[in-house]
Amino acid sequence: MYTSKIIKKDETMHPGISGGKFAEFQDAVIVFDLGGTYFRSGLYLAYEGLSEIRQQPAFSFHSAPNKSIADLKQDLVDYLVKTALYYSHRFNTNQVSISLGAALNGRNGIVYGSGPLWGNDNSSFDLLTLLRQAASELTWHIVNDVTAGLIHYGNNLQDTDIRKVLLLTISTGVACRLLDTRNQHIALDEFGLQGEIGHLPINLCFEGQALELGCDCGGRNHVAAFASGRGLRALSKLLAECKPVWWQSSKLAALQSHGLTFETALYQALEHNDEFANTLLYLTTQPIAEILRNALTLDPEIDRIVLTGGVVVNLSTYYRIFLTRHLSEQGIYLSSRFDPAFFERRLAIASSAEVNNLMGAALYATTYSKREYYA
Ligand SMILES: [Zn+2]
Repeated sequence: MYTSKIIKKDETMHPGISGGKFAEFQDAVIVFDLGGTYFRSGLYLAYEGLSEIRQQPAFSFHSAPNKSIADLKQDLVDYLVKTALYYSHRFNTNQVSISLGAALNGRNGIVYGSGPLWGNDNSSFDLLTLLRQAASELTWHIVNDVTAGLIHYGNNLQDTDIRKVLLLTISTGVACRLLDTRNQHIALDEFGLQGEIGHLPINLCFEGQALELGCDCGGRNHVAAFASGRGLRALSKLLAECKPVWWQSSKLAALQSHGLTFETALYQALEHNDEFANTLLYLTTQPIAEILRNALTLDPEIDRIVLTGGVVVNLSTYYRIFLTRHLSEQGIYLSSRFDPAFFERRLAIASSAEVNNLMGAALYATTYSKREYYA
């Protein structure tokens, strides 16, 4: 998925061998991107970019339902230490930066919780201290994954007229961050948080009936319960239960019965203009439209809205069409009347190359963590 440029060198240039000629690796950063579905690691070099990327399934309460949360957290520490030491020995670098898909204190790295990884567990997790104790020879950094993605996107932003960028990630989890491009500032509250929209309550109705779904965090009817990747699948199941005849006659059901994954079947059903798939996408984008409508109303400096994450990237144009439809039906008071494209012209869907959490983690370690308001 990411640009995977493999560094080619012969054995005599192996950086694990001590010597001054390997000073080029002093700027190297071992990077991680820990999402709800996959854990990725890699090596970042200022002039080479990313290389040596590895990926494995995430350790989560979904993938290992019989493990305790304490064991999952210990597995995470062990994985990070073992993998970081592998890169460290091989490439002779001690800088490590982790992009983590969890709500955390942006000032001190204390992890508050992660619905996709640990469900409703919200006990404070001082991952940074545990890592420093386990491998004190390495310098560890932790940054929230949405913050990392936004740092990377903001770093490459060419349009200097954009005052603020709002990045929303819609994948295993749902969250957003707001960057002021004029000073590269991501504001935090007193708990080091910003933009945890995934667990806001939402009222979603279908044909006049309230839809009810549980959320990974243990709550009910949160944005993520309907809008995340898992939320979208749960919503599809709920609609099918509400209207079984409609479901059974849908293209989406037919494609899934032929063995296609839900994601592939949904995309193809949308291509066939399937009414069930269209309704599903209309409903899953509604909570996101409501958040964007409120955000644009409260902050007139948001000049760019960037959507990313597996759900958006997979459905791409269709996601944009249905999201925009909500904003066309009910726009921003007055502004949408003065300019019907008020929302549309702010909206961009970014690929994983444009919003790359591994790159963001590297930038965080090399630049942003040194700024007081990110540290
Ligand atoms: Zn929730």
